[in-house]
Amino acid sequence: MPVSNQQILMFGVLAVLGVLQAETSRKIERARRSLNVTPHINMTSVWMLPAILLLPPQLIAALAFTFYLHLAIRSWSGLQHVAPHRTMTNATTVTLTCFLASWVTHSFFGASPLEGTKEVAAGAVCVAGAMYFLVNTAITGGGLYLAAPEKASVKRIVGTWDDNLLDLATLCIGGMMVIALINQPLMALVTFVPMFVLQRSVLAKQLEDLASKDQKTGLLNATAWHQRGNQELSRASRSGGEFSVLMIDLDFFKKINDTYGHLAGDDMLIALADLLKRETRSHDLVGRFGGEEFVVLLGGSSELEAVVAAERIRHMITELVVGTQTNDGTPVLISERTASIGVAAYPEAGQTLDEVLAAADAAVYVAKESGRNKVVGAGNRPVVVTTAG
Ligand code: GH3
Ligand code: MG
Ligand code: MG
Repeated sequence: MPVSNQQILMFGVLAVLGVLQAETSRKIERARRSLNVTPHINMTSVWMLPAILLLPPQLIAALAFTFYLHLAIRSWSGLQHVAPHRTMTNATTVTLTCFLASWVTHSFFGASPLEGTKEVAAGAVCVAGAMYFLVNTAITGGGLYLAAPEKASVKRIVGTWDDNLLDLATLCIGGMMVIALINQPLMALVTFVPMFVLQRSVLAKQLEDLASKDQKTGLLNATAWHQRGNQELSRASRSGGEFSVLMIDLDFFKKINDTYGHLAGDDMLIALADLLKRETRSHDLVGRFGGEEFVVLLGGSSELEAVVAAERIRHMITELVVGTQTNDGTPVLISERTASIGVAAYPEAGQTLDEVLAAADAAVYVAKESGRNKVVGAGNRPVVVTTAG
């Protein structure tokens, strides 16, 4: 496609602004990259969205190449350098995304949509942004799926709500950038401040997650669970409500470590955490207390209701099959495991969260003492007695 001098100038402006912006937020971005567990959203879309609308394909590709070359050089000299294949993949993904978004937008709105009426220009910006979002999610998601189909989950493939909101927020700033660039290019510099704050707030959110979550299972850690549990207790005490706590301790867990190794044990813990998340409601608090001990707070549930839930969970644990491997790489299936569960309710078992927990803990002890694979309510009433399997 032909390239005009004006387009080359626009390419230069976008390249300089993008590299400058990456330089101002380099430390934040590096911290974000090192913390992230889901796909890392980087913020080049602010500059790529204008490129989709203003540049021909060869300059779009050149712009993506410039940004990722800059990233590669910068991260190469740093301690945690990004693997070259990742940089290549990201640059290719962004280029393909922009090609497709550009093709769709120009097919709908003609060769120079920004020179038409204001409505047409705004429509073109929205379509280009939406296409960028959809195509990028599809390509990265497809790649992540193919990389490890066995680990595929929605969160792994499309990222979290926060990731996607960040992506959208970045595209919104990109949309404003388009309008600024065609009307008053110097105003483009104004976007540096919101971009910087956006990146910093995302980093703060990631640090908060890191401080409140157990890294192995993604559940709440003991501190965060206590904090949220105490909020629940205040709510219940104000409104005369109730809640119950399940304390879940895997039976003979040490044997898994001793037989298959610690990594297999870890996979068992992760599988149990997933089961607990799946089997509880979104407002219930699921936490990892220590090694192989988990706690669940069921909001608004009486002891009897909680015992029923605990019994369902106990039964599901006996049916859990976890595919993992031993230290020397031999695949194994861990199955027929059991757990002992203690249940205690507020306010019957205690006035404070620690008292309720102590009652649930004592109930676990009773379950262990009387043969394991059991649910025991705080009044030391064995509710269900079953054998493994
Ligand atoms: P019981 O039925 O009496 O609960 O027996 P148990 O073996 O489950 O309990 P015990 O308290 O004797 O052992 C718990 C084990 O959990 C010991 C420890 O090595 C292991 N463990 C603690 N944290 C982790 C972890 O993060 N990963 C793995 N793989 N093992 C852990
Ligand atoms: Mg234990
Ligand atoms: Mg145990």
